[in-house]
Amino acid sequence: MVTPVLSAVAQAMVGSASVENRRRADALAAAGRRIYDLGIGEPDADTPAVVKAAAHQAIDRGEGHYVDPRGLQALRERIVRFERERHGLTIQPEQVVVTVGSLGALSITLCALLDPGDEVVIFEPFWGPYAGMVKLAGGVPVTVPARETADALAPDFDAFAARLTARTRAVVLNSPNNPSGKVWSAGLLARLANLCEARNLWIVSDEVYSELVYDDHRHVSIATLSAAAARRTIITTSLSKSFAMTGWRLGYCVAAPEVAAVLAKINHYTVRCATSIAQWAAIAAFDDADRLLGGMRCLYARRRDLVGSAFARFPEFRYRKPDGSFYAFVRLPDYLADARVFVERLLEEEGVVVGSGAAYGASCHRYIRLSFATDDDTINEGIARIGNLALRMRQPASNHVGASGRI
Ligand code: PLP
Repeated sequence: MVTPVLSAVAQAMVGSASVENRRRADALAAAGRRIYDLGIGEPDADTPAVVKAAAHQAIDRGEGHYVDPRGLQALRERIVRFERERHGLTIQPEQVVVTVGSLGALSITLCALLDPGDEVVIFEPFWGPYAGMVKLAGGVPVTVPARETADALAPDFDAFAARLTARTRAVVLNSPNNPSGKVWSAGLLARLANLCEARNLWIVSDEVYSELVYDDHRHVSIATLSAAAARRTIITTSLSKSFAMTGWRLGYCVAAPEVAAVLAKINHYTVRCATSIAQWAAIAAFDDADRLLGGMRCLYARRRDLVGSAFARFPEFRYRKPDGSFYAFVRLPDYLADARVFVERLLEEEGVVVGSGAAYGASCHRYIRLSFATDDDTINEGIARIGNLALRMRQPASNHVGASGRI
């Protein structure tokens, strides 16, 4: 039987390596293996009670109808206040479009910016889905390898400039970064903003981890640097990570009014509107933001310190303290050339799930990503097992490993 073919974009779509790894972990768990999951990209905490209560009330009030594709006016006003108070943005409700998570925000943004064949520059290390999302929107992802210094994976502006062509339309920025946990300083952001100004590029600023920053680090939105930077920036963000609301699928874009109007039209034609009930719940989250976000930040900061202490026992791993997010991006010891092999063996032999560096860009193939959005025992035991496997791979014939599997 002859059937129509799928689109070329759909046929070329590559599946996610981390999804494959997770399916394998699920199969092992179903077969009775204990799994230490340091791969998870979402808070382990439940959604706050006040948010759940607001959703129940919205259901009881009969709010389950379509709303404006831009989002509820009351929510957009609340977002304006939140962004002003916490990130110093001076915006109006007509600059906000409420979306289906930040994935929804990114999708409509790329759809609004790209014509077929337009290039989007993405700094490594990057969140894996960007490349596929750019392709889905008809664009071409162009990645910039990271520059490895003694204490950081730094953005390489020379490599960035070398990749710009007449087809370059936009750059994707993600600070705080998944996977590295790096928070871009105002100085770095200004450098990027100047380059984008000079080459007339859009800036897509994924700020989904903006509330998860630690110590003296401060999230700076590139849109606050100047009016010129604000005009060419589209912020995409959500309540997923900061308020433990991943499954609620609630995010938003912030853009210049005329751009936001276009984004709202695209939102309409793709999903009509973000879920009304989740929008009402989001208002309650913002109303209690100081308390809720303070609690989340304390929890992750403590767990991050736990990751640091656990890796202190394995100095061959290059652990750099993340400034923000809930990920640690750790360089493997020099004798482990390929993270992919290590990650596969880690799951099969130790039952530990982590992300493999190449998924975040070719320049990161010696890295693994660990999430510390999980409990203390999983962090401690998972990292002990990581060290354990590394030791076995360094000394294949040795008897150093104790009966417990720990070193
Ligand atoms: N951006 C980054 C950097 C992420 O890490 C994620 C989720 O892992 C997202 C966007 C998507 O988040 P959501 O669509 O749940 O808001």
